[in-house]
Amino acid sequence: MTSPHVGTPTATSSEARQLKNYIGGDWITSNAEHIPVLNPATGETLASVPMSGADEVNAAVKAAKDAFPAWRETPPLVRARYFFTLKNLLEENVEHLSKILTKEHGKTLSEARGSVRRAIENVEVATGIPTLMQGYNLEDVARGIDCQAIRQPIGVFACIAPFNFPAMVPLWFLPFAVATGNTFIVKPSEQVPMCQEFIFEMIQASGIPPGVCNMIHGGKDSVNAILDNPDIKGVSFVGSTPIARHVYKRAGETGKRVQALGGAKNFLVVMPDAQLEDTASAITESFAGCAGERCLAGSVVLAVGDVHKPLVEKLKEKASNIKVGNGLEAGVTMGPVISAPHRDKIASYVEKGIAEGGDLILDGRDCKVEGHEGGNWFGPTIFDNVKPDATIAKEEIFGPVLTIVPVESLDEAINTIHKSEFANATSIFTQSGPAAREFRYRAEVSMMGINIGVAAPMAFFSFGGTRSSFYGDLKAHGRDSIEFYTDKKMVIERWF
Ligand code: NAD
Repeated sequence: MTSPHVGTPTATSSEARQLKNYIGGDWITSNAEHIPVLNPATGETLASVPMSGADEVNAAVKAAKDAFPAWRETPPLVRARYFFTLKNLLEENVEHLSKILTKEHGKTLSEARGSVRRAIENVEVATGIPTLMQGYNLEDVARGIDCQAIRQPIGVFACIAPFNFPAMVPLWFLPFAVATGNTFIVKPSEQVPMCQEFIFEMIQASGIPPGVCNMIHGGKDSVNAILDNPDIKGVSFVGSTPIARHVYKRAGETGKRVQALGGAKNFLVVMPDAQLEDTASAITESFAGCAGERCLAGSVVLAVGDVHKPLVEKLKEKASNIKVGNGLEAGVTMGPVISAPHRDKIASYVEKGIAEGGDLILDGRDCKVEGHEGGNWFGPTIFDNVKPDATIAKEEIFGPVLTIVPVESLDEAINTIHKSEFANATSIFTQSGPAAREFRYRAEVSMMGINIGVAAPMAFFSFGGTRSSFYGDLKAHGRDSIEFYTDKKMVIERWF
């Protein structure tokens, strides 16, 4: 299956193909204002995306609400079969989807393939729903009385996605919500809406009944319409912390379940006994992979004791070897950042880092790529000898900028991590079991790597941070997901 439209850029925004919403099984043109979708490596306009308003969101909610009773009654095994079909379609189209992803987002083709693989894994896990969704029971909770806990779907759910994983993030949610018997609305990021367009073409081709899965393109207005609609029973959000907080608060007004995954500032602790070569490779991949636009990106290195000097040399050497360019081209190891304003924001952080006294040992601000003058280029950037209270050690930059903070001990490293507003992921690099164990035990961060640069839980485990990195209690995918998308009905039964 190949889309007739997707991935075919047109020359100017006035000629750009208009993306449609998918409501009740139909592709519907929006009358709302459209904004261009730009290829961040070339500046080309790929399509234009509608900034849908409340009327369109409400139409999708109605379609999803109408589809719910029949979908809920569809046996879980039958619901799962649609996801086997969808998985096969995704497998057949990995390459096409990955190319769309690289074009609209910028990350390299190999990074795009990796994230599509991760997306598919969620579909694979959700095919196990007949087992995953089972309840539990106990006979004789009192004499002659039995109790059973049954999981039931709840109704209409929605997800609101960020720009950095255009294919994967909505699939952290949709397969689990829909396989458990709910109906669903996806609101992709308006910066990268084209992967979801193609995925929804596959959802349509999988035969999932009309109204079960819907997609609304847009920005702030469509998000607020989702949050305010009382017929939506729960929202899964992924994005920056201020918007996560807004979503958590506003969705609570209509009594929704909410899981809101926010921003990050991830600390990587390197102990003096760490394997230097492998550690430096893992850290380089962590801070510069996907141009640093990953919520799990290692952003601050806490270099403990003597490891500082040799580690800095290795990191500089490895980061200098990164080849920046158009992610579709062979040999390129880092793509552009998402937009020109975002590139300027990263540059302003670098200026702040210099003003606050950090040593800029690798400067990516002047990065240029021949033949792609319209791209949003930012090369790998490293600051050394940064104070833990400097802005670049505290705020999320979301670009390929690494901040190195020397510390004296593991204790000081853990205390520094605990002062951060964010707590999404953290890692330790060491060959010492006791140090790793102490770190695992004490560091209050929900996703943790031990000699792992990007501590990403897979689809069958749960994903999410704490503090300002997460609002809610049940996290994305894995077991939490089944809890989030079902209500547990307790039936207490006696027969006279
Ligand atoms: P963002 O917060 O700007 O946008 C996320 C979504 O919110 C988009 O769909 C957007 O349309 C919508 N939105 C934006 N402004 C809004 C407003 N004022 N009111 C209502 N809705 C609004 O985030 P982004 O720039 O697309 O993504 C990057 C952020 O996402 C980073 O902070 C990153 O750390 C975070 N992120 C977190 C995780 C995680 O697992 N914690 C994963 C991926 C990305």
